[in-house]
Amino acid sequence: MIKCHIVQDTMPNYIDGLLSAETEHDILQHFEECEACRTLHAKLSTSIDNSDLHINKKEIDFLKKVRIKTTKKVVTGFTVLLLIFALLTYFFAIGSPVRKTDLIYTTSFVGDTWRINMELTNGKALLVKTEPIYGEKDSNGVKPIVGELIKPHELVPSPILESDNTSFMFGSTIDSFNKPDYKIILRLADGDIVFTSDNYDK
Ligand SMILES: [Zn+2]
Repeated sequence: MIKCHIVQDTMPNYIDGLLSAETEHDILQHFEECEACRTLHAKLSTSIDNSDLHINKKEIDFLKKVRIKTTKKVVTGFTVLLLIFALLTYFFAIGSPVRKTDLIYTTSFVGDTWRINMELTNGKALLVKTEPIYGEKDSNGVKPIVGELIKPHELVPSPILESDNTSFMFGSTIDSFNKPDYKIILRLADGDIVFTSDNYDK
């Protein structure tokens, strides 16, 4: 039988499983006969397990922190993506009103149609939205159309959308200008240009 102090000196290596099968066998045999060493072995094993648990908890805390950080990063990334999409939509699809200095317009007559041709000169794409202008309700409660609002917008030319036109033509019958209050309003960033029966042909 090996002596207690040898068993106790080799105990850490025994717990870590670093001893030869022969020595392990001798120590096991010693445990069977020696309560003091058995108790010491039980104590040491438990404390090593505890320290393992402690490390695991630290690791878990660390992993939790990493996960929170990652979540924050994902949320931030998503917000940035939304912003970029909004900006792209703005530049490529909605655009901003055209300034007078960036637009050349000419008017002409083709048959009984009055035409206004617009051309953007700053290299951007021209997107023109038109909407009717409604007058006061008549006796039937119907609002008559008394004109047309033309809103030229400039866009960054897009490789995806077909919006790389720089010119736009709008037409209206000359008869329309004979209606009371009829007008065509060209709405630009720095003011309206209004065509009425008094000035449409001038
Ligand atoms: Zn012993």
